[in-house]
Amino acid sequence: MSDCLFCDIAASKMSSDIVHKDDEVVAFRDINPQAPVHILVIPTKHIATANDLHAEDEQLVGKLYTVAKALAQKEGIAQDGYRLVMNCNKGAGQAVFHIHLHLLGGRKLTWPPG
Ligand code: AMP
Ligand code: ZN
Repeated sequence: MSDCLFCDIAASKMSSDIVHKDDEVVAFRDINPQAPVHILVIPTKHIATANDLHAEDEQLVGKLYTVAKALAQKEGIAQDGYRLVMNCNKGAGQAVFHIHLHLLGGRKLTWPPG
């Protein structure tokens, strides 16, 4: 086990409900879902927060979105709508310090978020 929960999930050292896996990106269902569909899309590479992104990560971050889009279609929420959000640091509610895109949908989502 490493000291990062999401690195362990990406490496299958920790169990999770994985819905997508390739060389660069893993997606799994959130353990405490805030909507009928709540999936976390992460890079296999450990990046702690959005503040730690560099130009070399641009393709990888773009892929988080294309994987999320495909999953939204697969889950049947693409037409009604969904939210993609990445919290950065504690003030925004980040609790796991390995970047992750939340894919939320399947219910009416209000704006602005809290
Ligand atoms: P954030 O607050 O943006 O850092 O989001 C972290 C998310 O990880 C929360 O929505 C948690 O419910 C979720 N989470 C924590 N541990 C696990 C786990 N073992 N498997 C799946 N999701 C998890
Ligand atoms: Zn990590």
